[in-house]
Order: sequence, then structure tokens, then C-alpha cells
Amino acid sequence: MRSFFSLFCAMAICQFASAQRTCSTEQYARTIFKPQSQVSVDRGRERDTIPNEIITIPVVVHVIFKTTEQNISDDQVLSQIQVLNKDFRRLNADAVNTPAAFQSIAADSRIMFCLAQVTPEGRPTKGIVRRYTDKDFFLGDDAMKYTAAGGDDAWDSKKYLNIWVCCLFGRSLGYATPPGGQPDLDGVVINFDVFGTRGIVRAPFNLGRTATHEIGHWLGLKHLWGDISCGSDDVDDTPRQMGYNYGCPSFPHVTSCSENGNGDMFMNFMDFSDDACMNSFSNGQKRKMRSLFALGGIKNSFLNSFACDSTLASGGPIPDDTIPVAKPRPEIMLYPNPVQSEVIIQPVNDYELIGKVCSIFNVQGKRVFQQTCTSAKQKMNLSDLPSGVYILQVGTGNDKRIQKLLKL
Ligand SMILES: [Zn+2]
Repeated sequence: MRSFFSLFCAMAICQFASAQRTCSTEQYARTIFKPQSQVSVDRGRERDTIPNEIITIPVVVHVIFKTTEQNISDDQVLSQIQVLNKDFRRLNADAVNTPAAFQSIAADSRIMFCLAQVTPEGRPTKGIVRRYTDKDFFLGDDAMKYTAAGGDDAWDSKKYLNIWVCCLFGRSLGYATPPGGQPDLDGVVINFDVFGTRGIVRAPFNLGRTATHEIGHWLGLKHLWGDISCGSDDVDDTPRQMGYNYGCPSFPHVTSCSENGNGDMFMNFMDFSDDACMNSFSNGQKRKMRSLFALGGIKNSFLNSFACDSTLASGGPIPDDTIPVAKPRPEIMLYPNPVQSEVIIQPVNDYELIGKVCSIFNVQGKRVFQQTCTSAKQKMNLSDLPSGVYILQVGTGNDKRIQKLLKL
């Protein structure tokens, strides 16, 4: 029963979350994130981006699971990569839903994503690492990023985008580290049931836009309202807006903060609208994201990442974890029982018999027979015992096993 309840709690904690989008990046950036000044470049190999160059980012997805459900399929992971490659290239089918007023500033960022084919150690990989955890859930405190804390260590964040998929406590769908933080924490965390479009995904976050949004943060973008009333996201072409939008607003959504009658760009990936109602980045957001890869930019080293080139891999892949199967309890059995003279103690499920003391007690609790077991299948001659009911005890403490015995 205990495991049933702990499973139920885990599901309640990370699955039946609010129907309204939540993102913990701003809170994380304010309370946990520690900016570091170093720029991750490959010394001697720096170069600028070429205009219109397609920047491809190798991705490793760390699937951290306690339950079968949380161990999402390769296909679910792949469905997320497909969404990213559509959304960041403006190849998403719902791009047509961007209102005419915003069509001219909706951008193809020319950024793409590939599942890594080579590990940092040069071994082949699918770009998916599966790690079993004994934790029911994770808080937004980065424990999922450390093997020692029940998660999985980051891969070199100069070459890989690390995405951790796990059971996140509370209402948060995910969070990202802003650019320029601690290398071993760098990346994005997404709740397992809002990742991808196929498999275990829950509406209205079943179109993979949580990862699009969080990777937008990872690439330096802020929420459109700048996380304060009528604040700025430091991007020129996204209109100022009062606060976040949620659900599926209809155009135009105008407030006292709006610059003109077009109102909020609620269909931008950096708002809080439902997955089905967001469909674009802006030209200004594109420039901001791409600037990280330029010469001197924090993510310049990605121009020299070849982690999606499988020809560079050698050796065997890293094995994945599975949910440990509970081992059956070691036991003993007695036969024949009832017994006339000789009884045999047979170990079951690898119970270790040799060296243990086997005692027989009568119903008054008095020991009437004792012998140290010397073989894996112990024989005892009980022909001298009077007829009656006895208790056989093998071993002591946690190892103790007891069986009732009838002597004829
Ligand atoms: Zn956010």
C-alpha cells in the first residue's frame, strides 16, 4: 500500500497541475541563478556567425524517472525535437494563425536542434540518457542535474544543450537557466508530461511549446511583459504589454499599456498562452538569440560542436537504467511435512543456509533440537522427537525464518 500511495502522490504532485501555463525561469533567475562572467569559447577556434547561417544545437535529453510513465519513449523525445525545429524555423503549421498585424515581424530564427550522436567521451549515443531515480519528484533547485542527488550530470554545456525531463513539484511546467551561468547547471528542465506531442502529454500543453518557451529563455529571451506590470523584455519589436496572457486570447488584446490597437503579441512563444495559441518569435527576439553565437558571444562555442556527427563516435553506447525489479524475499521450505523421521530444509530465492543454526521448539517454546546447517539443502533426523506440533527456526535477526512442522 505504501508504494501505491507514494506513486499516487507523485502523480498528483507533477501531473494534475494547473490548466494555466506556469514557468519558473524568472523566479529561478532571481533566487538561485548565479551569473558567471566567462564566455564559453573554443580558444583558437572562435569565428563569427555567417549571415543567415543555420545554427544547429546538439541536444542531450536526460530522462529522469521513477515510474514507467515518467520514462517517456524515444518517440516522445523525438516529437519534441521536431516541434523545436518547426517553431524556431517558422515552419510550424500554425504560423498562419499569427495575426496580419504581426506577420511582418514574425521570424525564422534559423536555429535548429539535433539529438546528440556522440557523448562527451566520444561514445555513440541516441542523445537520450535514461536514469532511474528514487525521488518521487524534484523541486526547482537543480537536484535533477546531479547524479549524486538522484538526477544525471550535465554534459559539456559548451557543446550540448542539456534538457532534463522529470517529475517537477508543483505547478511549474519547466524552467531554464539564462545564458552565462554555472556550466554544470546550464540547460532546461521540463515536466515529463508537457514534453513533446506524442506519448504522455497533457492538454493544453501537448504541442511541445513548453520546451520552445524555455529554450527561448536559455537563448536569452525574457517574458514579453518583462516580469513586471507593463515592463520591457529588452526586445524592440515586441509590443509592451501589461502582464501575461493565458488560455487562448482573441486578437486584438488591448490594455492601457498597449502601444497601439494591435495590443499584446499573445501568440509569441514568450507569453503564457496555451500551446495551440502561440506560434511565433519576432525578428528582435531572433537577433537577440543569434547574438549569443556571434564572435564573443556566450554560446559561440556551439559553432564548433560536432556532437551530432555519428562518424565521430566509437566504442559501445552507455547503458540505460530501467526500473529496478524488487527481488523476491529469500525463504525456506520444509518437506516432507508432516514428517516421520527425516526432514529436509530447502532454501528458496537464494536464502543462504550454510553456517546458520537450525533450532526446533515445542509449543511450550522449549528448544528440543539444534543443529548447524552444513549443506545448501539440510537434512535433519527427527525420529527421536515425540509426535506433535513444532516450530523450526533458521538463523537470527533479520535473517530469521520460521516454519511450522508436524511430527507424526
Ligand atoms: Zn518563461
